Amino acid sequence: MNHEIPKDHPRYLSLTVREAIISGMHQKVVAEAGLIAHGRGEAFDYILGEVTPEFALKQEEFAVLKMLAAKKPVISVNGNVAAMCPEEIVALGKLLRAPLEINLFYRSQEREQAIKTKLIGAGAEKILGLDPEFQETIDEISHLRRIVDTRGIAISDCVFVPLEDGDRTQALRHLGKNVVTVDLNPLSRTSLTANVSITNNIIRAVPEMIDFAKKLSNLSKAELTERLNQFNNESLLQDALIFMSERLKSLAETDKLTI
Ligand code: ATP
Ligand code: MG
Repeated sequence: MNHEIPKDHPRYLSLTVREAIISGMHQKVVAEAGLIAHGRGEAFDYILGEVTPEFALKQEEFAVLKMLAAKKPVISVNGNVAAMCPEEIVALGKLLRAPLEINLFYRSQEREQAIKTKLIGAGAEKILGLDPEFQETIDEISHLRRIVDTRGIAISDCVFVPLEDGDRTQALRHLGKNVVTVDLNPLSRTSLTANVSITNNIIRAVPEMIDFAKKLSNLSKAELTERLNQFNNESLLQDALIFMSERLKSLAETDKLTI
């Protein structure tokens, strides 16, 4: 079920990613609802112009600093993330010394194993979240995703949860954890509750975070703290909204409507 997309197609990249999500669904990596979430993200990416704006680079630097400053950072991986950027998320985990933990909204052993296989194929050595011996429940979360790994999210002080649902972000915050996210919708509950929100497409954000991690990983604790003090999540989210609204306005005001 692989459609050949011509390389000169104006929407080549977007269509390629869409194919990765669809084939991820056939491999049981992506849940059906993951397709809908992806479409919601695509709509916001159109407004960004499908490139990384300046404010998003700042959010990404902020996110990497926050993860580097953490004692026990962890990366929570779901089906969409595993389908879109498996190699990149594995590489980022290694650079940030953050283990990967599989944590699913639509939990099934089949999906967990499919995602694990995908991540191992992308170079991961160890995956948390699946071994019953190390599972614990978070009471704040009412569904199956409350199961977390006692070596990962349970003891983590900073959780990177790209493409996350608002309920879980809020629960992690209530538990006193720092939460870092990637979410194209600056108004989602996740964006609004996370400590660091990156308003960008994950396929651009994670490679850019890798570049930041390479540059910043040798900073001392004092330097990390000093740099972190220069960022403010709320004002960066406001920058995202201003960018989106101004871009729409300038498109509307051009003589000929084109992008
Ligand atoms: P919330 O629960 O936070 O209020 P929601 O219910 O709209 O938001 P979910 O489906 O729970 O959203 O989470 C998925 C989020 O991921 C959406 O906000 C969507 O815009 C975003 N998203 C989807 N695809 C991408 C992508 N490729 N890159 C970045 N963000 C994405
Ligand atoms: Mg939601």
